[in-house]
Amino acid sequence: MKAIRRLTVRPVLPDPLRPLSDLARNLRWSWHEGTRDLFRSVDPGCWADAGGDPVRLLGTVPPARLAELAGDGEFLRRLAGAAADLDRYMTGDRWYQDRERSARLPAAVAYFSPEFGITAALPQYSGGLGILAGDHLKAASDLGVPLVGVGLLYRHGYFRQSLSRDGWQQEHYPVLDPGALPLALLEEPDGTPARVALALPGGRELRARIWLAQVGRVPLLLLDSDVEENDLGERGVTDRLYGGGSDHRLLQEMLLGMGGVRAVRAYCRITGHAPPEVFHTNEGHAGFLGVERIAELCDGGLDFDSALEAVRAGTVFTTHTPVPAGIDRFDRDLIARHFGPGAELPGIGAERVLRLGGESYPGGEPGVFNMAVMGLRLAQRANGVSLLHGGVSREMFAGLWPGFDADEVPITSVTNGVHAPTWVAPEVFRLGARAIGAERAEEALTVGGPDRWDSVTDIPDEDLWELRRTLRGQLVAEVRERLRASWRERGAGEAELGWIDGVLDPGVLTIGFARRVPSYKRLTLMLEDRERLTGLLLHPERPVQIVVAGKAHPADDGGKRLVQELVRFADDPRVRHRIVFLPDYGMGMAQKLYPGCDVWLNNPLRPLEACGTSGMKAALNGCLNLSVLDGWWDEWYQPDFGWAIPTADGAASDPERRDAMEAAALYELLEQRVTPPFYERGRSGLPDRWIEMVRRTLSLLGPRVLAGRMVREYVERLYTPAAEAHRAMEPDAARGLAEWKARVRAAWPGVRVGHVEASAATATAELGSTLGLRVRVGLGDLAPDDVEVQAVSGRVDSGDRITGAAALALKPVSGPDLEGRWVYEGPLALDRTGPFGYTVRVLPSHPLLASGADTGLVAVPTDEPAGTAAPLMR
Ligand SMILES: *Cc1c(COP(=O)(O)O)cnc(C)c1O
Repeated sequence: MKAIRRLTVRPVLPDPLRPLSDLARNLRWSWHEGTRDLFRSVDPGCWADAGGDPVRLLGTVPPARLAELAGDGEFLRRLAGAAADLDRYMTGDRWYQDRERSARLPAAVAYFSPEFGITAALPQYSGGLGILAGDHLKAASDLGVPLVGVGLLYRHGYFRQSLSRDGWQQEHYPVLDPGALPLALLEEPDGTPARVALALPGGRELRARIWLAQVGRVPLLLLDSDVEENDLGERGVTDRLYGGGSDHRLLQEMLLGMGGVRAVRAYCRITGHAPPEVFHTNEGHAGFLGVERIAELCDGGLDFDSALEAVRAGTVFTTHTPVPAGIDRFDRDLIARHFGPGAELPGIGAERVLRLGGESYPGGEPGVFNMAVMGLRLAQRANGVSLLHGGVSREMFAGLWPGFDADEVPITSVTNGVHAPTWVAPEVFRLGARAIGAERAEEALTVGGPDRWDSVTDIPDEDLWELRRTLRGQLVAEVRERLRASWRERGAGEAELGWIDGVLDPGVLTIGFARRVPSYKRLTLMLEDRERLTGLLLHPERPVQIVVAGKAHPADDGGKRLVQELVRFADDPRVRHRIVFLPDYGMGMAQKLYPGCDVWLNNPLRPLEACGTSGMKAALNGCLNLSVLDGWWDEWYQPDFGWAIPTADGAASDPERRDAMEAAALYELLEQRVTPPFYERGRSGLPDRWIEMVRRTLSLLGPRVLAGRMVREYVERLYTPAAEAHRAMEPDAARGLAEWKARVRAAWPGVRVGHVEASAATATAELGSTLGLRVRVGLGDLAPDDVEVQAVSGRVDSGDRITGAAALALKPVSGPDLEGRWVYEGPLALDRTGPFGYTVRVLPSHPLLASGADTGLVAVPTDEPAGTAAPLMR
């Protein structure tokens, strides 16, 4: 019989065990081994059945066992210790509180993301973007940063993957019952659930309740549209992560952005939490948060342009992908309908919203509304996620700042990091704790700080090698178990599966490759030359074994074909003991996989991997990286940490040829460079060269890849300046800035750079000398205070283009003459040898702007009026 309604009945814990409930509901257990140990000891069998999820565990432990524990003095003592530890964690001063005394840090930051990967027990993520968001919240919690996370609660999360007999990906969408997840409803003081509602076209309404997940010190608000007051269609808005067509996606993104701001407001009102001074959007999906905040300010009496300035000041936008398919783009008509009359935000014309996301630049599509473009227009500060990706993003979005070189596009970068307490295997942590003590080891992993972990140098070779062997052995056991389960799901009987006991060898060099399966990540590059790969797998003295995992997006048949190709290869009895594909890659598997591998392989099409984080998690466990120089590896690769796979970008434009060349380079590296140091033995009987690389990876790379380092950078380089800009942007200041921009834009066609005179007009000069520059600049209706006149200089290429330009502000010395022209002067130092060039330009200048390129306006020497109103401003 089918139930008409379902609910979750929560267990009643005996009084002495009450603190267990608080420990289960704060997700800090997911990165705190001690708390997990406590739960395991409640009932090891139930713990395993519950998949290591304390809320599920408490729902299944027999009452008799609970009664027994309630009288177990030793258990109660441990419980009290864990509860006190959590209390200390939640209330003590941390890095942020120490800094707050010296700097005016934001009172709170709201962090929006379409997905959050915090633990396998809360499956609300699909891959790297979500896990990064989870790591961001955890690191913020460890550092004491007052962050509030905002996302959606997907009723089916992302899909679970299994395989058909012939290796085709199968998708399952388990129903998640929020009552059985580590969540609590946000309630109004009168006990009713807090609600947000959005008006939709056609008189419909989208309502959502708000779930609260406690991620250490950081609250995470998750909006859920599956409430009875909604019509069926609206109930389904938060059904799946990245599912459905574009109407569905738009509703999800409106709920996340606009509903999310309202959820934050409700949370602050109900709990007394400080209101955010900074709003940070992880990718463009939550971009409507800016539109919502403009509407709030317009309701308060500000005009749109002034509100836009005020919102931009306190907004940070992080872009995550140079792959166009990774950016949400909507039909303009769809946006027009949802922001037209009768829909939400009637105070803001659809035309204004449309202009924010319009691709109004060369090469843009006129009928398209682009969420990344809106994200950039709504944020005064933006960043990519590695040094390389920052550069790629500046090129990619340069069309929004015409007249500026790509390297001046105001998009910086903060290289991603990973939350070490989540990703470091307990065995690795214990080895570190043995060297410097648990407390210092924890501090080193969370806050970070020193550039190198010197204590790793003192760990004996035998201990490091023993650690690698232990972790590899655990992985082998885990792989066999998962492979057996997978084959059962594929319909195999136990009698067929005896061979699985011989799958993988704890003594063989183990390579891991696991990630989502978009085509740019090239899951099957290793299959380019199957014979050569087989030779590596079956090498008589120096074999390798490979563990592969990854989900293809449900709508991506191309990706599913790649999975099938790999599965079919791995099914071959000749090699199936040396290469396996494990279905349903997720955080639970990842936590076992990274530590157990010796080498982590990554072979994306450069430069499409914005950062990549799995290799960082591997490195923190002493695994060496073998990767294309893309994302973070391009920045931090050293021969001590692993190997760089040579790329053929530029050389081979034909993608097939490029794959073949890069695969050949990969095989050669494996044969010549990777396997020998693993198998050779030094005088002590250990692989000395390998161990030295492990040691250097841990001590030198470890401290860089931390999420703590990343969040500290966000606080110092983006959140704090954004909070200061937000504070400076009082309503009058915002109005003043908006009026100034309008005036400058109107007057700009009158700005002209006249003849530039130099003190020496020769074609050669000596290093260390100075060139006196003098230029006549027509400012039209503007005054010197409105602009900066700059000499821009640097090395020039054969086309006279200045590279690595430096800007020097020139000073007005006289003016205006009868025609409104000013004379500017300044000394240009000739501080480098070789071909050198300079030019002069005029930029609008205002103390409330973060970047000289902000307005997109610039005037350069020409007889024509230069720099028409830029797309950024239209
Ligand atoms: C870290 C992680 C990712 C991201 O991996 P990339 O190599 O950066 O793409 C994806 N999925 C899971 C489960 C992860 O833990």
